Amino acid sequence: MTKYVYSFNEGSKDMRSLLGGKGANLAEMTKIGLPVPFGFTVTTQACNKYYEEGKKIDPAIIVEIREKMVELENVTGKQFGNVENPLLVSVRSGAAVSMPGMMDTILNLGLNDTTVEGISRLTGNERFAYDSYRRFIQMFGNVVCEVPMAAFDKAFEAVKEKSGAKYDVDLTSENLKEIISLYKVIFKENTGQEFPQEPEQQLMDAIQAVFRSWNNERAILYRQLNKIPHEFGTAVNVQSMVFGNMGDTSGTGVAFTRSPVDGEKKIFGEFLVNAQGEDVVAGIRTPQPIDEMKDRFPDVYKDFMRIAEVLENHYKNMQDMEFTVERGKLFMLQTRDGKRTAASAVKIAVDMVEEGLIDKETAIMRIEPEQIDQLLHPKFEDEAEKAAKPLATGLAASPGAATGQIVFEASDAQAAMEKGHGVILVRKETSPEDLAGMVAAQGILTARGGMTSHAAVVARGMGKCCVAGCSQAVVDEDAKTLTIGQVVLKEGDFISINGSNGNVYLGELPTVAPSLSGDFATIMSWADSLRTMKVRTNADTPQEAAQAVEFGAEGIGLCRTEHMFFEEERIPAIRQMIMAETTEERVKALSKLLPYQRDDFEGIFKAMGERPVTIRLLDPPLHEFLPKTEEDMVKLSKLTGLTLEQLQNRADELHEMNPMLGHRGCRLAVTYPEIAQMQTRAIIEAAIKVKEDTGLEIVPEIMIPLVGMEGEISFVKDVVVKTAQQCKDEKNSDLQYIVGTMIEIPRAALTADEIAKEAEFFSFGTNDLTQMTYGFSRDDAGKIIKDYLEKGLLKDDVFQTIDQNGVGKLVDMAVKLGKQTRPNIKLGICGEHGGDPRSIEFCYKTGLHYVSCSPYRVPIARLAAAQAVIRNQQK
Ligand code: PEP
Ligand code: MG
Repeated sequence: MTKYVYSFNEGSKDMRSLLGGKGANLAEMTKIGLPVPFGFTVTTQACNKYYEEGKKIDPAIIVEIREKMVELENVTGKQFGNVENPLLVSVRSGAAVSMPGMMDTILNLGLNDTTVEGISRLTGNERFAYDSYRRFIQMFGNVVCEVPMAAFDKAFEAVKEKSGAKYDVDLTSENLKEIISLYKVIFKENTGQEFPQEPEQQLMDAIQAVFRSWNNERAILYRQLNKIPHEFGTAVNVQSMVFGNMGDTSGTGVAFTRSPVDGEKKIFGEFLVNAQGEDVVAGIRTPQPIDEMKDRFPDVYKDFMRIAEVLENHYKNMQDMEFTVERGKLFMLQTRDGKRTAASAVKIAVDMVEEGLIDKETAIMRIEPEQIDQLLHPKFEDEAEKAAKPLATGLAASPGAATGQIVFEASDAQAAMEKGHGVILVRKETSPEDLAGMVAAQGILTARGGMTSHAAVVARGMGKCCVAGCSQAVVDEDAKTLTIGQVVLKEGDFISINGSNGNVYLGELPTVAPSLSGDFATIMSWADSLRTMKVRTNADTPQEAAQAVEFGAEGIGLCRTEHMFFEEERIPAIRQMIMAETTEERVKALSKLLPYQRDDFEGIFKAMGERPVTIRLLDPPLHEFLPKTEEDMVKLSKLTGLTLEQLQNRADELHEMNPMLGHRGCRLAVTYPEIAQMQTRAIIEAAIKVKEDTGLEIVPEIMIPLVGMEGEISFVKDVVVKTAQQCKDEKNSDLQYIVGTMIEIPRAALTADEIAKEAEFFSFGTNDLTQMTYGFSRDDAGKIIKDYLEKGLLKDDVFQTIDQNGVGKLVDMAVKLGKQTRPNIKLGICGEHGGDPRSIEFCYKTGLHYVSCSPYRVPIARLAAAQAVIRNQQK
C-alpha cells in the first residue's frame, strides 16, 4: 500500500520529489540531530491524488494523518484540542522545487475558544495567547476560506485607533479579544459559517487549502516562468509550533551561510525579536542584521553559527535557513540551498572548489546558464555614476543597473513592457501579486523591507536589479508619487537605480558593457576544458564579432548579410537593384554595393582572426527592402528614373501572399545569380586582402540559405565556385574556402544525403526548420504559442527550446544522412536554439560540432556545453 504521510524521522534529503524540498530537508535535519520541532509531511503524491479524486482527501490518507497526529502528540507530550496542554501546529506547503512565497502557510492551528485559555495559562502570557489566536483566525480565514485580508485589517485598525494604541504591540489582551469577536463576525459574514472550533476540521481544511494553493494564479505563473512542471504537486508539512513571539527572549530570523548577493563567506541574515516568521519574510517590520543577535542572545548565536556550519558542510552548498528562538532555545524551521545572484553563485562555486568542498564538475553544475546573463548586463558608467549625486540610498538587494520611468502598479509595468518602455517599479513593498510587474520592469525600488523581503528575494532569483528598504523614499501608491526629501516624482519621471550599492539617482545614467574576469573567468576556463562542442556566434558587424570574441566566441556561425544592406547610404543601391528591369541594370546597381560588402567582410575577418567565419548569401524576400514611405518612393524615383507608377507596379509584382515561403534564400540566387556573384566576390576579395595584409590563414565558409533540394545547392554552388575562381585568378591567390548550406527546410533534412554531395557543411537553421515543421509562422505564432503553453499543449516555446521529438528528429536524421555521404561533414546550429541550454544539450547528444548564438549568449552556451558533457557522463 502506498504510504502518503511520513514523520520527520522517516525521510531524508534524497526524497524531495515525494516530500517536497522543505519536508525532505526537515527530515534530513532531524536525522543529523539538529533541533527541529517534530512533525510530519503529507506527500506530493497525496496532493496529486487529491486532484485525481476531484479535490477530496482520500479517506485512507485521512487515517494516516490521524495516526501521525497521535505520534506527534506522544513526542511533544501535548494534545490536539486539549485545554490543559494544547498542541498547536503550523501547516505549510513545500514543493519539490522551491517556490518562495508562492503558496500558503497557516500558523497556530489548533487554537480555539478554549485552547487559547490553555495557552494563556501555560505561558502565563494572556496577551500572547490572544494575539496568536487572532493571527490564526486571520490566516485561516484568508488562506482557507478566502475571506479578504482587507476586511480583517479594517477591523484591526479600527480597534487600534479606538484604543489609542500606536503600535500593534500596544494592544492589550482585552483589545485583542475584541478583535477576535469582530474577526469571527467577519468570518461568518463571508463564509456563512461559524469559525471552526474543532482542531481536526481546522487541520483537514488547512491541508486541502495548501493543496489548492498549488494551483493559485501566482503559483501557476511562477511555474511557467521557472519551467517547473505542473504535475509535481506540493507536499504539506505539519509541524509542532514554536513561538518567536513569546517576549523579549524569543525571536525569529532567516540567514544564509554565505552572501546571496556577492558570495562573501560570512553569515548573512536578519532577525526580529519577539516576532513570528511571517513578519520577517513579509517585510512588514524591518529586521536587524544577524550580527546584533550576538549581543542579544550570545548562547543562541553561538549555537546558530555552529549549526550553520554543520549544514553547509553537510549539504556542501550555501544554505538558506529559517529559525526561531523560543524563550532562549533555538529551533531550526527550514534549510535549503540558497537562491543567489549570478555573481554570488560564481564566487561560491569557485571558493568551494578551493576549500575542497566540491569538485570542478559540481561547481560548473551549480551555475544556472541562464543566470550568467546577469553578469553580462550593463553597469553604470563609472565616471557618470561618480558625478551623479544619489537622491537616496537603500539596501543593495539585487545587483545591476537599471534606468527607466517610474510606475507604481504591477499592471502599469506590464503595460509599459508591452509598449517597449523600460520602467522601474516603485512600491512600498512588493507581494506575490506583483510578480508579473516585477518580471516586466527593468528594476524594482521599495521603501520598506530588508534583504530578505519579498522584493529582494524574488528580484535576486530573477537577476533583476533591486534597491529595497529605501527608507528615505515615501511612496504614495494611490497618488502615484515618490517623494525623496524635497523631490516629488510622478509616474513617468525617469530614475536610475544601482542594485549593487543601493543608490537611487534622478534621471537616466549611461551604462557600459561588463567584462569577464576573476571568478567568472575561472569558471569559464573550467567549462572550456570540459566541453567538446565549439561555441560560435551569430554576428553581422565587426563590433558584434569583437564583443563575441571577448565573450569567448570561437568563430562566426552565421553572418546575415542582409542586415548590412539596411544602412542609409546603401539602401538606395539595393533598391535600385531590386527595381532593375534588366540583368545589366541589376549588375550595375550591385557593383555599387560591392565595395561596401567587401569592407564589411574585411572588418569581420580582421575581428575574427583565424577563427572560422560562415557568411550567408542574401536570404530575405526582396520586398523587405522596398521603401515604405512616400518620401522614400520619391527619392527612389529620382534615382532610378522610373515613375512612381512604375515603381508601384514593380512593388506589386514583388508582393507575395506568404513571403516567408516565397522568393527568398537560394531561390533569389537562382533567379538573379548576379546577387550571389557580387556577394561571393566581396567575400573572396576581402579574404584575400586580409590574408595578404595580415598573413592570417583565412578560410571563408560560404553558406547558401533555404536549400530544399540538391539541384538548388548545385546551381548556386556553381555560381559561387566560378566567381571565386575568377577572383582568385585575378589576384593570383591560392585562398581556400568551403561551401555549405543551411538545413532549414524539412525537405533538406529528409534528403540530406543528396544535399551533402554538394555541401561541405550543414548549419541547422532551426528557426525556419521549426516554422516549417510545425507550420507556425515565426512572425505571428506568439499568441498561439502562449495559448498552447497556458493550456498545456506545449511545454516550451518551440522557437526557444528545440522540439526534440519533431524538429529534433529531422536534425538527427539530417546528421546521419549527411555523414553517410560525407563522413567528415562539419555540423553546427545557428537558429536561436543555439543559445538555449536545453537545446545545446540536444545538439551535443546529436553529435553537432558547434553551436552558434548571439554574442551575449556565448558564455551561457560555453557553460551549457560543458554541463551537457558532465550530465551525460553522469548517466
Ligand atoms: C534560421 O532559420 O534558423 C536562421 C538562423 O536563419 P534566419 O533566422 O535568418 O531565417
Ligand atoms: Mg532561416
